[in-house]
Amino acid sequence: MKELGAMKVPLVDLGAQYESIRDDVLAAVTRVCDSQRYILGPEVELAEQELAKSLSATHAIGVSSGTDALLVSLMALGVGPGDEVVTSTYSFFASAGSIARLGATPVFVDIDPATFNLDPEGVKAAVTPKTKVIMPVHLFGLSAPLDPILETAAEAGVPVLEDACQAVGARYREKQVGTLGALGCISFFPSKALSAFGDAGLVITNDDELATRVGMLRTHGAENRYYHSAIGGNFRLDAMQAAILRVKAPHLRRWLEQRRQNAARYTRLFEEADVATFGVELPVEPTGHWHTYHQYVIKAPRRDELRKHLEAHDVETAIYYPVSLHRQECFRHLGFPAGSLPKAEAAAKISLALPMYPELTEEQQTHVVEAVVHHLRMS
Ligand SMILES: *Cc1c(COP(=O)(O)O)cnc(C)c1O
Repeated sequence: MKELGAMKVPLVDLGAQYESIRDDVLAAVTRVCDSQRYILGPEVELAEQELAKSLSATHAIGVSSGTDALLVSLMALGVGPGDEVVTSTYSFFASAGSIARLGATPVFVDIDPATFNLDPEGVKAAVTPKTKVIMPVHLFGLSAPLDPILETAAEAGVPVLEDACQAVGARYREKQVGTLGALGCISFFPSKALSAFGDAGLVITNDDELATRVGMLRTHGAENRYYHSAIGGNFRLDAMQAAILRVKAPHLRRWLEQRRQNAARYTRLFEEADVATFGVELPVEPTGHWHTYHQYVIKAPRRDELRKHLEAHDVETAIYYPVSLHRQECFRHLGFPAGSLPKAEAAAKISLALPMYPELTEEQQTHVVEAVVHHLRMS
């Protein structure tokens, strides 16, 4: 067998992107410092207008994080104690944490193992008279199957809140994710496809009333300063982060295209190496979906051994997510025993995220694929 060459491949490389926009970022930061306007104000307003336009939404409300985008959106939809919110068990903790923090109950649904996203039949079965909201998650940059989910929601007479935190710019049947439901939530956490230099997030919507409500809840429920008609919180986007996002947003389309090209290259290289014969499954992009590959996640038998092998060859990987939400200790009281959502539990044991970012080079990808194939042939 051919010896593996040496090369370092990080999971993400924020520095590579920063290098390409450094002057513009520093100019934007300087502009904010010189203005001495740090809370809301023109930078935040302009960022909101520009982001709304680029994401094809009528309204965009800048908030403090993706988590707070979910929390304030659930608040705007009136979610509280006694309510149930149907969501995916296979997600980052914030999807369910935001529901539980409002005293509502997350109702976890299993996934379609091919896409890691919600199984629409499971969503339908999970709806009860207590269901207040249905919250699909667009995991890894791929939209959940929204048509059947929107249909179930319409039948139940409840709104859909899209957790698009990992899927900024992704499309479903030619529409921007986050704009198909009542509200969409986006995260600008540093590792996300469009990212701030710290925590930041966005709520998008085409509903005028909901936009006003989210905007009000973002500043302690005050329509006018010091007059509070509802109980909100401090969920504001910093002017500094807004200015940096304004520099980055015009590059988003190109960065997403580069991610897609890199994903296509991984897939081609893996298929040429016939990894399917070793039981490895590659990401899929179902018809009508436009995947942005926030992550390129494969499924591999003996995943943990593969991961160690890759680490030994300087290839950084990650496991999203080792424990599904219904099996988290803090949700034990909800009564989802081991084996209750078997597809998510199985996926948690075999999924592996490979290095993915726009600036990933062909040499790096070849090294990753060779290292994977090297392990498969050895074991
Ligand atoms: C990142 C993420 C969040 C939370 O975003 P933060 O900006 O880190 O608070 C919520 N849901 C999903 C699916 C995410 O990936």
